[in-house]
Amino acid sequence: MLIALLLATQVSQPVPPAASGASGSIDPIAATRAYLETLPAEKREKSDAYFEGGYVLHLVSFLWTAGVLLLLLYSGLSAKMRDRAERAGRFQSVVYWLQFLVATTLLELPLAIYRDWYREHQYGLSNLTFAGWLGEEGKGLAISAVFGSLVVMALYAVVRRLPRTWWIWGTVVAIAFLIFGVWIGPVVIQPIFNNPKRLEDQRVVAPILRLARANGINASEVWEIDASKQTTRVSANVSGFLGTERITLNDNLLNRCSLPEIEAVMGHEMGHFVLHHVPLLIVQLGVVIAIGFALVSRLFDRFRARWNVRDAGDVAGLPLALLLFSSYLFVLTPVLNTIIRAQENAADVFGVNASQQPDGFAQVTLKLSEYRKLEPGSLEEIVFYDHPSGRTRILTAMRWKAEHPETWSR
Ligand SMILES: [Zn+2]
Repeated sequence: MLIALLLATQVSQPVPPAASGASGSIDPIAATRAYLETLPAEKREKSDAYFEGGYVLHLVSFLWTAGVLLLLLYSGLSAKMRDRAERAGRFQSVVYWLQFLVATTLLELPLAIYRDWYREHQYGLSNLTFAGWLGEEGKGLAISAVFGSLVVMALYAVVRRLPRTWWIWGTVVAIAFLIFGVWIGPVVIQPIFNNPKRLEDQRVVAPILRLARANGINASEVWEIDASKQTTRVSANVSGFLGTERITLNDNLLNRCSLPEIEAVMGHEMGHFVLHHVPLLIVQLGVVIAIGFALVSRLFDRFRARWNVRDAGDVAGLPLALLLFSSYLFVLTPVLNTIIRAQENAADVFGVNASQQPDGFAQVTLKLSEYRKLEPGSLEEIVFYDHPSGRTRILTAMRWKAEHPETWSR
C-alpha cells in the first residue's frame, strides 16, 4: 500500500535532447554522453571513490585472509584444533570446522567492521546500526556453521577415501552443494535476513506479468524484499533453481524508480531466466572449481610437512588448502568478473529488447551508479567489473533506441 502511494509520485526524468530523437536521428555515443552528463559531479566523484577504494579493499581482504590462514599454520593452532577434534571421533571434521570458523571470524572482524559497516556508512549506503550489523553477521556465522560443516564433512570424506582422485569427486560434491545452495537460497536463506513477500500492487505487477508472458516465462508472481533494512542500494535479482526460481525487486527500487525504469530492470532479470544463466553459471563455476581443486591437490604435498600436516585428509591442513584455493581465485578475479559480466551484458541486451524502455534503462543505470563507477578504462572494466559499467549499459540502451525510431515520440 505504501509502495502504491510512493509509486504515484515517481515520474520519469526528462530525456536529454541528444537522446530524444527530436533532430530526426540519434547518435548512440552522443546520447550516452548526454545521459552521463546529467549526473552531478559531486555524486560521480563519490561513487568513483567508493568503487576505486573497493579495488584496494579486494587486495587487502585477500592478504588479510592469507595472513590469518598462515598464522593458524605457523602458530601451531591448526594442529592443536585438529588434536582436540580427533577426540571427537567420527565428527572430527565438524569439530575442527567450528573451531576454525570462530578463530577466523574473530581474526577477520576488524577488517569486516571497517569494510562492511564503517565504510558503508561513510558513503551513505548502509541503513544498519552497529548492533544490527553484528546481528546480521551472527546469522551469517550460524549459517556457515551449519552448511560449512556439511560441506567440510563431505569433502574430507571424499579426500580420505580417494586420495589420488579427490579433486574430481570433490568437484562433483562442490557442484551438488552449489546447486543445493541456489535451490534453498530464496526459500530458506533469504527469509533469515529479510521478509520477502509477493508484490501486490497491480499497477506494477500487471505490466511485469505481461512482459513475462510475452517472453515465454510462466510466472504468476513477482517478489518484493525489504532490502532497505540493510542498504540504500537499488537492486533486483533472479534466484533459485529447480522449481524455486523467482524474480525479486528490492523496495529501494520500487520506492525510487518510475514504471519504465522498473520495466527495464524486469526485462534484464527476465533475460537471466530466458538465457538460462543460473544453470550455465553453475557449469562454468564447476570448471573453475575442478581446475582449482586439481591445483590444490598438486601443490598441497609440497608445503604440508613444515606445518605438521600429515596428508591431504588431515583437517589440520584446511588453512593450507584454503590458502592455495583462495590464491587461485584471487588471481582469477578478472576471469570470474568477465564470466559474470558477459552474462549481465547479455541480460542488458535482452532486457532493452523485451521492455522497449531504453530511457528507463538509462535512467535506472544512473541510479545504480551510486555504488559503481560510471566510466572506467577498458582494462579496468575487464579486471574489476562484474556488471557492465554505467557507460556500457547506457550505450547498449542508446544503440537500441537509435535503431528503433518508433519509440522516439514516447
Ligand atoms: Zn543481472
